[in-house]
Amino acid sequence: MFKRVLIANRGEIALRVIRACQEMGIESVAVYSTADADALHVQLATRAICVGPAKAADSYLSPISLLTAAVESGCDAIHPGYGFLSENAEFADLCAKSGLRFIGPTGDMIRQMGNKAAARALMQKNGVPVVPGSDGPVPDSAAAAQLAAAIGYPVLIKASAGGGGRGMRRVDDPADLERLFDEARAEAVACFGDGELYLEKLILSPRHIEFQILADTQGNVIHLGERDCSIQRKNQKLMEESPSKALTPELRAAMGAAAVAAAKAAGYVNAGTIEFVVDREGHFYFIEMNTRIQVEHPVTEMVTGLDLVKEQLRIAAGLPLSVKQEDITLTGHALECRINAEDPTRGFCPCPGKTEFLHLPGGPGVRVDTLLYNGYAVSPYYDSLVAKVIVHAPTRLEAIRRMRRCLAELVIEGYPTTADFCHLILHHPDFVRGQYDTGFLAQNQEELLRWESQSLSEQ
Ligand code: ADP
Repeated sequence: MFKRVLIANRGEIALRVIRACQEMGIESVAVYSTADADALHVQLATRAICVGPAKAADSYLSPISLLTAAVESGCDAIHPGYGFLSENAEFADLCAKSGLRFIGPTGDMIRQMGNKAAARALMQKNGVPVVPGSDGPVPDSAAAAQLAAAIGYPVLIKASAGGGGRGMRRVDDPADLERLFDEARAEAVACFGDGELYLEKLILSPRHIEFQILADTQGNVIHLGERDCSIQRKNQKLMEESPSKALTPELRAAMGAAAVAAAKAAGYVNAGTIEFVVDREGHFYFIEMNTRIQVEHPVTEMVTGLDLVKEQLRIAAGLPLSVKQEDITLTGHALECRINAEDPTRGFCPCPGKTEFLHLPGGPGVRVDTLLYNGYAVSPYYDSLVAKVIVHAPTRLEAIRRMRRCLAELVIEGYPTTADFCHLILHHPDFVRGQYDTGFLAQNQEELLRWESQSLSEQ
């Protein structure tokens, strides 16, 4: 096992990795920008090194600063967390070249799954269902128009290098295709420096269901069930749950087997996520693979009792998985709410500020992963996620009740957050019934915000 691990990240995920290291007797080296000198991860790690100024490009995204810190502090491995350099193939390669173990897949595996058109083709070749669409990239809008006519509108134009919903356009009318194709290409070039596009049929009112997988260097690949991430705002997840109300045991088994097949086809090693969309008839289609730990991983930890970060460390150290597929049982129901420093009543604009008062919920079946402490000033430079509230209970309804109780108990003073908005979602009849798809927030946001302003004016 590693002696000392550098955590190339900040915020709650840096804390999450530090905690796993501590429990495994591994020293942790935190890195921080000058804007993060007061951050909790700096205080909780064995040691902390400043790697640059506030601007992420010069600190958390600077391979040279991070590698220098790792080598100088005598680390033998680097955990990238999520975001930042976690899916950067060159960084993974550079770690290996510097004699440091990258706690994640190899650069080549990241490259293979990072090009979404190529990943799609690989899945198709290996019998994993993909959304009907193009075989690989589409060269121009004329080819896209021809294909779209064949598969039927509406279609989605997507960027091969895409992420965070960027470079993606929905096309309903053939007359708009050329314009939207050009727009998607321009956005993809601007965001990713790569204008390659591909085409998929738009699945109407789908659920976003993803499977957590673990794969070790001995060739063992297992899945840990699903997370339903259909509560999304502009393709950004806000709440996640496991198990999904939309899956029957048969569908879960079929999708789990497809997820394992997908990871095997990629020759994958590390924790990873296979994302699918599921249509109203229960057909499922691969959309992409994430080659890192995800924000919503605690939901899976709650229902499986496994520690995914410890498994990542074990895998990277060359050890076999601590469990086999037959050991995995999904117990009870878990829910996660993302608490962002954003103002839902002002278009969810980021609203960082000083945490004037903080009270975190507790009690049975409650976990809070947060970078906050009383008096902590949320930085305007980074992600607006300030806390994840996760609950576990025997049934879905009890989990919903527990989460309502937690969000009522949570107090964050100093700036607006998404906590009340999540609380309202937990009272929406369709959510309570489990009848929602990725369009839920777009369809209900106005009503939810009306509820929110009503309850604010009554206070
Ligand atoms: P990104 O990597 O940019 O986030 P994804 O391919 O993961 O893009 O898709 C983001 C979201 O868009 C999904 O969670 C899903 O809600 C929706 N989506 C993606 N592909 C399709 C599709 N073919 N049909 C319907 N919805 C889709």
